[in-house]
Amino acid sequence: MLQIEVCETMVNCPNCKKELAKPAKKWKYGHFIAEAYRCEKCGTRFNEYTSNGKHSFTLKLATANRYVKV
Ligand SMILES: [Zn+2]
Repeated sequence: MLQIEVCETMVNCPNCKKELAKPAKKWKYGHFIAEAYRCEKCGTRFNEYTSNGKHSFTLKLATANRYVKV
């Protein structure tokens, strides 16, 4: 059984800075934990990548299937 450590920190929307508590989706991506968020306020979709419990980088969904690093 796969156990993924739950990260308790809040993330902020890269667009409007709204705090988001829970990711819509969470999965393993290589040695990263990826979390998909959708901002409740402005609708921005972005993925947070965490490695060893530390934030690594954020990818924002720009258009249909294109992500940009923020
Ligand atoms: Zn937002």
